[in-house]
Amino acid sequence: MFQLGIAETARQLAARAFSAVELTQHFLDRIRRHNARLNAIITLDEARSLAAARTADEHIARGKAGSLTGIPILHKDIFCANGWRTACGSRMLENFVAPYDAHVVSRLEAAGTVILGKTNMDEFAMGSSNETSWFGPVRNPWRTSAVPGGSSGGSAAAVAARLALAATGTDTGGSIRQPAALSGVCGLKPTYGVASRYGMIAFASSLDQAGPIATSAQDLALMLNAMAGFDARDSTSLERAAEDYARDLERPLRGLRIGLPKEFFSDAVQPEVAAAVEAAIGEYRRLGATSVEVSLPNMHLSIPVYYVLAPAEASSNLARYDGVRYGYRADAFDDLVDMYERTRAEGFGAEVKRRIMIGTYVLSHGYYDAYYLKAQKIRRLIATDFARAFEQCDVIMGPTSPTTAFELGSRTSDPVQMYLSDIYTIAVNLAGLPGLSIPAGFDAAGLPVGLQSIGNYFAEARLLNVAHQYQRATDWHRRVPADFAG
Ligand code: GLN
Repeated sequence: MFQLGIAETARQLAARAFSAVELTQHFLDRIRRHNARLNAIITLDEARSLAAARTADEHIARGKAGSLTGIPILHKDIFCANGWRTACGSRMLENFVAPYDAHVVSRLEAAGTVILGKTNMDEFAMGSSNETSWFGPVRNPWRTSAVPGGSSGGSAAAVAARLALAATGTDTGGSIRQPAALSGVCGLKPTYGVASRYGMIAFASSLDQAGPIATSAQDLALMLNAMAGFDARDSTSLERAAEDYARDLERPLRGLRIGLPKEFFSDAVQPEVAAAVEAAIGEYRRLGATSVEVSLPNMHLSIPVYYVLAPAEASSNLARYDGVRYGYRADAFDDLVDMYERTRAEGFGAEVKRRIMIGTYVLSHGYYDAYYLKAQKIRRLIATDFARAFEQCDVIMGPTSPTTAFELGSRTSDPVQMYLSDIYTIAVNLAGLPGLSIPAGFDAAGLPVGLQSIGNYFAEARLLNVAHQYQRATDWHRRVPADFAG
């Protein structure tokens, strides 16, 4: 049952091969059996999940099923879900129960999904390995001594271990695509503004974007159909006509022009990652695509620019955690200022504090022009690089991550080394473009490699088409980590 994917599961639910309650129970049983080894899911409410499944069965019986009725999914713990604890990987929100739904959560609920639980993540989505979580690290289902990637590491590991059919994620600098790559699943970051940020706990608002994680491009399309859409409560939500993101899945690839940025294929890439990506591009050529070398000359500046802008926005967004209205409050304090200081000292972890300090520094008088304003200008240049590249190609391809999954603890003492994990994903967020990662092979140790495809603004349907055609010709995305195959 856990290997069917969303489209086939929906068909079987409609044909009454099994009920939504049976399906939900099946995944809850898998979670009970497997999650302890992964620490991917941190909040469960079985009674509530089963009640939602019963409602789904009633809708199916009355012929009122929506596109995702009865489909069990997980939400990254950055999304507020009414009545569910929403901790965002932080001690600061350890006991926070959301009183309302994020737009993405309510859209998926309206489509009929059943929430199985909430997934572990890096604290406030800051990290590339899921090791900054207050709830402990998540482990990679392909090798439990390795990280699953981050910050949506719980979602990626859970989907890889087939503990749910799909999960939500968020991507500020790579946090959907990079964990998808390291965990061997598919993840899509849409164009900035396609999914509403309402109810999604803010990290760096000009970069944050919600997207799906699933086992196939087809399932990503079905998830995105439900997640996308205008929402007046997010001022950067785009008012556009609804799209069917699955509409182009079957389009042949003949004539597709793939741009290969020379900056993506340097010595920095692990040789086995480079080999898998090159093999995938060979497969695309067999499917009728051509390739052209392009250049993103400012890409090397994307990490420094991001680590000015994202902390600047984070320092402002995280000012709200002051112990006054909700969230953690220090037990003992002398006066109001002491209460703020102790609350924030005790409630935030080391990486979050590092970002707040950097952000406060770059926004301070005297440094604002030198850092923040300069970074904004380079951000524009990076977006212009992509615009030029898309004059020559339809889609840009390369590795999602320079390496496969690394060992737990191996990068935690060196923040810059950790930040470099996102070298191929961050520029996409700075430009606001859509990007997708799909499995494209394994290294010698049996760890998955991700292939990244980047599209022009609003090219999600095309990216999904390009990924789906590859998945019709290959079976990397169907592999299940051995320990979780039963
Ligand atoms: N790893 C990057 C960071 O730590 C990106 C995280 C993200 O996309 N949420 O900021």
